[in-house]
Amino acid sequence: MSGAAAVYPALVLNADFRPLSYYPLSLWSWQDAVKAVFMDRVNIVSEYDNTIRSPSFEMRLPSVISLKKYIHLDRRPAFTRFNVFLRDHFACQYCGDGFPTEHLTFDHIIPRSKGGRTTWMNVVTACQSCNLLKSNRLPHECGMIPLRKVVEPTTRDLQRNGRSFPPNYLHESWGDFLYWDSELES
Ligand SMILES: [Zn+2]
Repeated sequence: MSGAAAVYPALVLNADFRPLSYYPLSLWSWQDAVKAVFMDRVNIVSEYDNTIRSPSFEMRLPSVISLKKYIHLDRRPAFTRFNVFLRDHFACQYCGDGFPTEHLTFDHIIPRSKGGRTTWMNVVTACQSCNLLKSNRLPHECGMIPLRKVVEPTTRDLQRNGRSFPPNYLHESWGDFLYWDSELES
């Protein structure tokens, strides 16, 4: 697979599922990524369809990997769409059902029209029906209270939640990942 390094780079995420760096984007050659997998330093988050083979093994090339050990970059988990969904286990916080990301939305617990802000403490994952049902009402007006206690998650919380999903569930590709990792506007 000569020349594959340029063709099959792996996006490297820190243990909090954010890219190690954006500028430049943290990419490793497939050789470095595979080596890190064998050294048990990373989890495979997503894979290419392409495989490498040797007489003794065959594996799909990783397209996204996350470090097992958090590299401390002096930051709290970013307030992103992806991280809000991850905090809430990709499940609606009103009916408790899990949905594919394209069917999930955000609900402001205290509606923006009533002064609610776009923050960790006021935004939860909701399915489209629950979001519609709740509309612009306050929780006590409609009896819709988030199922889980709403918290600002730590890196450790997000790591733990991420581990409960099988590889490839969270991201089809790192293109999607970067999209989902865009910061929420406050
Ligand atoms: Zn729902």
